[in-house]
Amino acid sequence: MKSDVIIIGGGIAGVSAGALIASGAQVTLLESESMIGHHTTGRSAAMFIRNYGGPAVARLNEIAEAVFENPEGISDQPLLTPRGELHVARADEAEHLERYLRDAEGMDRVTTEEALQLCPILRPEAAVHAAIERGAQAIDTDLLLQGYAKMLRRNGGRIETGAPVTAITHQGGTWRVETPKGTFEAPVLVNAAGAWADQVAGLAGLAPVGLVPRRRNAAILPAPAGHDVETWPMVVNAADRWYIKPEAGKLMFSPSDAVPSDPCDAWSDDMELAEGLDRFSQDVTYEVTRVERSWAGLRSFAPDLAPVVGFDPDATGFWWLAGQGGTGIQTAPALAALSAAGVLGQPSPVSDEVLASFSPKRFRTA
Ligand SMILES: Cc1cc2nc3c(=O)[nH]c(=O)nc-3n(C[C@H](O)[C@H](O)[C@H](O)COP(=O)(O)OP(=O)(O)OC[C@H]3O[C@@H](n4cnc5c(N)ncnc54)[C@H](O)[C@@H]3O)c2cc1C
Repeated sequence: MKSDVIIIGGGIAGVSAGALIASGAQVTLLESESMIGHHTTGRSAAMFIRNYGGPAVARLNEIAEAVFENPEGISDQPLLTPRGELHVARADEAEHLERYLRDAEGMDRVTTEEALQLCPILRPEAAVHAAIERGAQAIDTDLLLQGYAKMLRRNGGRIETGAPVTAITHQGGTWRVETPKGTFEAPVLVNAAGAWADQVAGLAGLAPVGLVPRRRNAAILPAPAGHDVETWPMVVNAADRWYIKPEAGKLMFSPSDAVPSDPCDAWSDDMELAEGLDRFSQDVTYEVTRVERSWAGLRSFAPDLAPVVGFDPDATGFWWLAGQGGTGIQTAPALAALSAAGVLGQPSPVSDEVLASFSPKRFRTA
């Protein structure tokens, strides 16, 4: 089966890029699993935090925010819900908060009293220093993903699920990709395989960029009795010891862990979760007696923590779209626009300097 562009990976990265690329080329998206969004995309905290990801992705956050605010063509319902994000630090964690605030925009320092008003289960000693990004919002990831999938199909593209790519060859300017559902051919290949992106490059005979998938656990906890958590912001310990986010009247909890892992269908680790809950319990007056459900996802990072986006310098027509770390949902609209421009040969929405900072070339010229 022939098309102009093959995309490997049906997470938010591949689906959003596919939707935009399909406006100017015939796209086939191949996904291993029986549904899109099964891996990291379906397991996130789903937040848009302008200052998250630091200066490396600041421009992406800016581009993405405009799309989230006006998601024409993706969704006719709002994709964002106001939430806010409160950072709290113990006395000996002040430097972590200061480091975050150094590059941050639109954050207000708040007193311990104000922090406790915003999240009444906090112990005063856990919020000696605090600051809030009031504009942080929750993203409806499912609406976003399904909206882009519809756009991809509307633009004439196709999504093949249950199609794990097992072999890739490149001959005469054509990429040939083998799956149990058949062989697919195109002059351009987009590697949006998330935690597996280095493995996909390996199948194509290309060097890895050195991605490290890191497992992050998460759980749903019952709301503390007598509290309407929906009025709370997301609350993050500034030293990355835990975070909580109101979720449908309950609390999503994460130990903010980042343990290196092979690419896999990640499962939550009871010990890491228990250790995180112990750290959390030292900072709050709420006694956690029950975990309703738990899961884990892999956040994949390049060695310099910036996304890896652009054509591989050692092969024609091999576009990387990987290494989104902890910001892959919120940066997806921007990285999709950047990828569509690159693949379709159109002007990029970001400067050459930003493009160079994302290029896979940076790992090949040591
Ligand atoms: C606990 C947690 C909290 C997070 N919170 C946030 C947040 O608040 N905000 C935010 O922006 N981001 C957040 N993230 C990060 C975000 O979820 C990721 O950056 C994003 O989902 C990555 O998307 P992706 O499409 O690259 O990867 P994935 O969703 O993993 O998609 C990659 C796809 O490629 C497919 N694939 C791999 N190999 C092959 C192959 N050989 N053939 C065919 N298909 C293949 C896989 O099956 C998979 O579906 C969080 C992540 C976690 C785990």
